[in-house]
Amino acid sequence: MTASIIDGKDYASRLRGKLKFAVTDLKERYKITPGLAVVLVGNDAASEIYVRNKGIQTKEAGMESFEYRLPEGTSEEDLLSKVEELNSDKSVNGILVQFPVPKHMEQQKIIEKILPSKDVDGLHPVNSGYLSSGLSGMVPCTPQGASMLIKDTLPSLSGLHAVIVGRSNLVGKPIAQLLLKENCTVTICHSRTKNLQATCLSADILVAAVGIPELIKEDWIKKDAIVIDVGINRQQAPEKGEGKTKLVGDVDFEGARKIAAAITPVPGGVGPMTIACLLLNTLMATCSQNNINFSEFKI
Ligand code: NDP
Repeated sequence: MTASIIDGKDYASRLRGKLKFAVTDLKERYKITPGLAVVLVGNDAASEIYVRNKGIQTKEAGMESFEYRLPEGTSEEDLLSKVEELNSDKSVNGILVQFPVPKHMEQQKIIEKILPSKDVDGLHPVNSGYLSSGLSGMVPCTPQGASMLIKDTLPSLSGLHAVIVGRSNLVGKPIAQLLLKENCTVTICHSRTKNLQATCLSADILVAAVGIPELIKEDWIKKDAIVIDVGINRQQAPEKGEGKTKLVGDVDFEGARKIAAAITPVPGGVGPMTIACLLLNTLMATCSQNNINFSEFKI
């Protein structure tokens, strides 16, 4: 038996469909159109693609998409002023500054400038504080998407051992908090963890968020575990032709699928969930800013 494939592409597409429906309803009943502003500084190729996809999917969901492309040489002060302007713009419900920003800017300063109520990336310390206190706030998109896929795969997570490899504020820590909220017993691993393989082998749910291609091997996986691969790594793929590349995760997919009960592929697993959850956060932010009960919408 090989593992079943957790199809994030399909899940994300269904979620976007429900959001589109909810946005139509919101517009009809409240005459409100959610607005998402994305700010990109510089010309990073991967960020360009990501921002373009965000814009397309935002419009497809019936939301307003505002894109601001600032030159690489923009000063930190000017970027902070842009964020302030968006904070006070009533047509903007969610603000996302695409990271990484150029090296002369301090990422944390920018995160903290965004109003927590418009922080659809969920990175503001107020929102991470809510998450770690088990309170509702904006939850970072990729961890939120990963958690949805896990909950969709397993009926109950209570008491299961979840091992998260990676402790970033963007991915590892929020996933750990979300799984703790689901009553998992959570272990967080990082670059200084001793006996990483043994720890991974004890995981009922193994989440890899490292950024090292295929770090996690077949013999690191407990039989019938759920494996969630957040990693996105670009690798040379000579088999596809000279100079060609492919995306691989942090898990050796072919090896792991012989042991696990279910696994996310890369691409097509966690990746597509990120933008879908960004749109979800934008809708939630719009509702909360307008005193509308989000649970009115059946998402
Ligand atoms: P970071 O580089 O911020 O964090 C990586 C984490 O992995 C750190 O906590 C680091 O430990 C840990 N780590 C590094 N080497 C090892 C090792 N040998 N053994 C164990 N742990 C190790 O990355 P991100 O969290 O931002 O991203 C992780 C991966 O997820 C990347 O591949 C990224 O591309 C992908 N990603 C995918 C997204 C999506 O699907 N849309 C969105 C965001 C990220 P330490 O803290 O000790 O340095």
